[in-house]
Amino acid sequence: MNVQLRQITSRAVIAVGSNLGDRTATFAAAVRALAEADGIEVTAISTPIDTVAVGADGENPAAPAYLNAVVLIRTTLAPRALLAVLNGIEHDNGRVRAERWGDRTLDLDIVDYAGMQSSAPDLTLPHPRAFERSFVLRPWLEVDPEAVLAGHGRVADLVAGLDTGS
Ligand code: ATP
Ligand code: CA
Ligand code: CA
Repeated sequence: MNVQLRQITSRAVIAVGSNLGDRTATFAAAVRALAEADGIEVTAISTPIDTVAVGADGENPAAPAYLNAVVLIRTTLAPRALLAVLNGIEHDNGRVRAERWGDRTLDLDIVDYAGMQSSAPDLTLPHPRAFERSFVLRPWLEVDPEAVLAGHGRVADLVAGLDTGS
């Protein structure tokens, strides 16, 4: 019998952040690594933006500023397999896990995976703080004007809400 396996491809949204070292070079290396990873196709890359660091106590202008961007992908990887690949790319780019929200060469978060919703602590979907993060929402809107954040609505509306403070 000739059984053909068709792999399911899902769209996902990756947030990229860097505030240590050569941020631009790290960003380029991260995008390259994503594009070269098995089961991942990069479909859009936002313009990187310069952002004030956010620490445990909120915005921290004393910490090195971030370069933030959003990368859209199509992937045959399941969510946790995708997160494992992202963690590997972080590691390859000098990420050291110290304190939560500490400075880092590279942070790769899954903002959205096919609109999936999950409250698992090791992989919460969509990313639990994406809805209030300008540095995620604005780059995402740039590459997908029709984007929707599961459970929160249109990204365009979320960005408009940031502007008015509502
Ligand atoms: P934040 O989550 O506020 O952006 P962070 O990115 O600095 O903070 P990390 O130290 O990189 O946090 O990750 C902490 C944990 O978050 C990881 O061990 C990971 O398993 C978990 N996690 C939960 N949901 C997600 C997600 N959607 N994307 C990436 N990591 C996630
Ligand atoms: Ca993060
Ligand atoms: Ca992270």
